[in-house]
Amino acid sequence: MPPEPSLENRDVAANLAAVRRMIDRTCLDAGRDPAGVELVAVTKTFPADVIRAAYDSGQRIFGESRLQEAKPKIDVLPEDIHWHFIGRVQRNKLRKILGAFKVVHGIDSMALASAADRIAGEEGRRSAVFLQVNIAAESSKGGFHPDELILNFPRLAALSNLDVLGLMAIPPPSESGSETRQWFAAVRELRDRIGREHGVHLPGLSMGMSGDFEAAILEGATLVRVGSAIFGNR
Ligand SMILES: *Cc1c(COP(=O)(O)O)cnc(C)c1O
Repeated sequence: MPPEPSLENRDVAANLAAVRRMIDRTCLDAGRDPAGVELVAVTKTFPADVIRAAYDSGQRIFGESRLQEAKPKIDVLPEDIHWHFIGRVQRNKLRKILGAFKVVHGIDSMALASAADRIAGEEGRRSAVFLQVNIAAESSKGGFHPDELILNFPRLAALSNLDVLGLMAIPPPSESGSETRQWFAAVRELRDRIGREHGVHLPGLSMGMSGDFEAAILEGATLVRVGSAIFGNR
C-alpha cells in the first residue's frame, strides 16, 4: 500500500485543485481558453516532499528564486518537471541558472540579455527568457524601464540564441485590486506596443501571484506564479 499522504500534503493537493478551479473560472469570465494560462507553482522555502505532493497531483511546472536553494530539490525530483527561475539573476550565476532552469523570468537589463545570449551560444542551445519590466518605474525595483525596453527592443530581438517568450512584471503593492489590475493592463499594452512598433509578437505575459492572479488573467496573463495559495505562508 502507498503511504498515507500527510495532512500537510493533502492540503497541497486541495489548494492546488482550488487554484486551478479559480484559474479556469476566471478564464471563463474573461472569455479565454484555460489552456492559455500556465500555472507555475512557486516552491521557494518549501522542501522536496511538499513539491512532490504537488507533482503527484499533476503539477509539472515549478518556480524557484534562488539557485543554491533550488539545485538540491531539482536533483532529487522527477526529470519531467519544468523548472522556472523567477528570482533576481546574478550575473555570476547566470550560466548555472540557464543550465538548471528551462525558463528564466528575471532578465532585467540589456547586459544580462546579452550575457544570456552569449552563454547559450557557447553551450550550443537556446535560452528561453522573460524580460522583466519595471512597469511602474519604481526606484526600488529592477527591470527594464518601459521606454528603455521599447528603445532597446531591436537589439534584444537580434540576440539570436534567446527565445524571448514575453514580459514579466510584479506590480507595485497596492491596497486596491483595481489599481493592481491597471498595472497588469499596462504590461499588456506595453507588449502590444512593442508588437506594433517592432513587428514582433511576444506571446507571453508572466504576471500574477497568489493575491492577484485573477486580475492578471483578466488582463491577459499567460503564466501565473502562485506560491502561498498552494503551499501556505512562508
Ligand atoms: C515568491 C514569488 C511568487 C509567488 O508569490 P506568492 O504570493 O507566494 O504567490 C511569484 N513571483 C515571484 C517573482 C516571487 O518571488
